[in-house]
Amino acid sequence: MHFLARAALAAAFALPLTGIASAAPEPPFNFDTTYGNLPKDVVPRAYAISVTPDPDHLALTGSETVKIEVRKPTKTIIFNALNMTFSRASVDGVAATVVPNDKTQRATLTAGKLLTPGMHVLALSYKGKMETAGQGLFRQPYIGADGKQHVMVSTQFESTDARRMFPCWDEPAFRAVYTLSATLPAAWTAVSNMPVASRVVKGPTATTTFQPTAKMASYLVVLTAGDLKSISGVDANGTRHEIWTTNGNEQDGQYALANSKQILEAYDAYFGIKFPLPKLSSIAVPGGFSGAMENWGGITYNDQALLLGKSGTLGQKQEIYSVQAHEMAHQWFGDLVTMSWWDDLWLNESFASWMSARQTALANPTWLWWQTEDGDKEGAMQADSQITSHAIQTHVTDELQAEAAFDPAITYSKGQAFLRMTEAYLGPDTFRSGIQLYMQDRKFSNATATDLWTALSKASGKDVAAYANGWIAQPGFPVISVTASCDASGNRTVALHQERFLLSGAADPNATTWTVPVGIASGNGAPSYTVLNARDASGIPAGSCSEPLRANAGDIGFYRVAYDPATLATNTKAFASLPDDDKIVMLDDQWALTLAGKADLRSYLALANAMGNDHNTRAWNQILGALNTIERDERSKPGHDAFTAYASALVHPLYDSLGWDPNPNDAPPVRQLRHAVIGSLGEWGDPGVIAEARKRFAAFIKDRSTLPPDEQSVVIDTVATYADQATFDQIHALAKSAKNETEGQRYFFALAMAKDPKLAEQAMEIGISSEIPPQAASSRPGFVFGTIDWNPALAFEFGKAHGKKIFEAMDGMNMVFIALYAPPAFADAAPLDQVQAWVTTLVPPGSDAFIQRGMASAKLAQQLRARIVQQADAAMQAAKT
Ligand SMILES: [Zn+2]
Repeated sequence: MHFLARAALAAAFALPLTGIASAAPEPPFNFDTTYGNLPKDVVPRAYAISVTPDPDHLALTGSETVKIEVRKPTKTIIFNALNMTFSRASVDGVAATVVPNDKTQRATLTAGKLLTPGMHVLALSYKGKMETAGQGLFRQPYIGADGKQHVMVSTQFESTDARRMFPCWDEPAFRAVYTLSATLPAAWTAVSNMPVASRVVKGPTATTTFQPTAKMASYLVVLTAGDLKSISGVDANGTRHEIWTTNGNEQDGQYALANSKQILEAYDAYFGIKFPLPKLSSIAVPGGFSGAMENWGGITYNDQALLLGKSGTLGQKQEIYSVQAHEMAHQWFGDLVTMSWWDDLWLNESFASWMSARQTALANPTWLWWQTEDGDKEGAMQADSQITSHAIQTHVTDELQAEAAFDPAITYSKGQAFLRMTEAYLGPDTFRSGIQLYMQDRKFSNATATDLWTALSKASGKDVAAYANGWIAQPGFPVISVTASCDASGNRTVALHQERFLLSGAADPNATTWTVPVGIASGNGAPSYTVLNARDASGIPAGSCSEPLRANAGDIGFYRVAYDPATLATNTKAFASLPDDDKIVMLDDQWALTLAGKADLRSYLALANAMGNDHNTRAWNQILGALNTIERDERSKPGHDAFTAYASALVHPLYDSLGWDPNPNDAPPVRQLRHAVIGSLGEWGDPGVIAEARKRFAAFIKDRSTLPPDEQSVVIDTVATYADQATFDQIHALAKSAKNETEGQRYFFALAMAKDPKLAEQAMEIGISSEIPPQAASSRPGFVFGTIDWNPALAFEFGKAHGKKIFEAMDGMNMVFIALYAPPAFADAAPLDQVQAWVTTLVPPGSDAFIQRGMASAKLAQQLRARIVQQADAAMQAAKT
């Protein structure tokens, strides 16, 4: 699964997540001993499910038969069901009774006679509920390409919501075959995991039955239906690719269709096992949920993450490609081989994230994708630098914890970075051989981390478990202190010392260590790897003392480096000559050390000033991010203007050289860098930038062809920030007349940037009004979070007054994350006890532990802000004298 809104929230606020107990190393997968809440003495083998959704009444009726294997004599069968009433139940034709319990989300069937070991047939008839947010079977209203209001239905079952549509063994180890049949309006088209087997029209309705699925987990079943159209094609290996959209939008799927074929062919080759289903559908759902879901053979996407219209931008192309590559990687990591239990969710999500980054980088070399992903890695490191962070592998016991395991910073981004480091450590060919062994061994079944280590150890001859367990079973990561010594002829050796890196600056109470493959390179030479498997190591050869030293060469390792002062001085002097990846990681590390109070801000600014004429986008984005952080923290403080003048002077040469107009020869990241530097200068109040943005905006209002889609946000966002009522109304009019949701979101979100509190309030009112089409309802929180930047107290008061409306489209899983993300985001908006009281009213019952983690993040955010303001004031003072 992939989340758009949540990833954006996490990136915007660099929000740290916290404390679940880590899991002990596990045995290989074994169905009988795998953790779960359902007994294993009755096992489903094949379901035949018939559902009739009634979206008008948010209801559904269903019946199903399940071929079950009884493994020891019993009269009792326990399965998952939620919001269901049962009108009929039998086993082998003998009537049975069912007692559902919505609290435990389990139902208990008592058979009419003792069931003996062997195969039996369970039959159930039931009524259930449809949902209005993306969980279970949900109703999705939307404004169609014809401008009219429509309704469609779709499903979202991961983690534990298949039980809302049909009674089932809703745990990942219970793989079974599903034959789904749905009765819907005859004018609708229905799409599921498998091709249609039959379609029978009866009056105003049609019953569509799909071919039986492969043996799979319940959370991967999908049903989407409505006024849908598709485009399709067949790839070189014979798999049929379909892009489904609401009627009239299908041509916007051409980009996704081409990607789908390219990515699946690459994955067929990488895994050594061809995609095993006859077709792969990608289904664009207008709204409902804000990401994508890897249902086997029928991936659902929020339409904004799949369709590229004429008003699409480079950023959207990148998002679409990488989300597709993520969901398609799940067709193997997750669908063909499924984690045994939610503890090992990372086996799904870390791998899909890593595979997506790898594929996106390979297929789009001009995007410099691994450098872009460094931003995600930094987000993960920020989150993992808190004492309350949790391990990649975490023990899950209930539904809420299963939802919380989808933590973007740790499960997705840290896991991705850990796998990249592991691939480099084992070597890409060896790593791939191990992955192929793992897939062959575990296909159509489940796996634990231990199964993966066994395969990788077999391929590499190394004890991979010994290396990997420290990374997945314990929270945090090390900072490696590097101390160089030089002999008489200038040959360098280094001593390494590791300890856990904590942003608070405190010592690690647990004295954690890791097995770290440290990539060391001198000058621009190739790295050699040293495995640091104790707290200290010394005497490691590291080239010549006259050359700069790179101790995380290529930005591959998930650790920070603190250089001794002499080496840092050498690196700073030679900074312009270093490879871009090493510049990026040195900027990241020096900034983090500064935040943690372990380095002087001046040492970071010296690196930033040494960038010279290098226009590397990620390096500059890192610098702009740091400067933006300081500028925001300095607002309303006496040091603000001095710092802003300093920051402007630092980036002005870059701005002067890039200018405003795209150059046809620019690499794609350079176009993005131009927007970033203009955006920052605009935010800092640069009069020249604001004037130029206003000029371009005025021309755009007269003639829309003056700004292509890629060039609009940078102009409109800056104008919106300093808007008066008349300008605000102009942008609002643009939003209301937007031809599609892509444009609509671009203009509507600009409104929330207004600095003027009166306008910011109007923007938030618009955000909860009916002007936002139903398919964009999950964007409502964005108006409030967007307002925090300039008007934190106002955003908080508005959130308090309208919380229910703002978050109405968010499902339970997303609300867990509100508990984690909202407190640090609002840390400056109101006293923390008030923030806590408000967040408590929003989140599902049982979220207390998550609120506590969110509050710890808020306190740390305040501590870091105070520290950075003090550092910035001291640095500015020193620069003056
Ligand atoms: Zn995923």
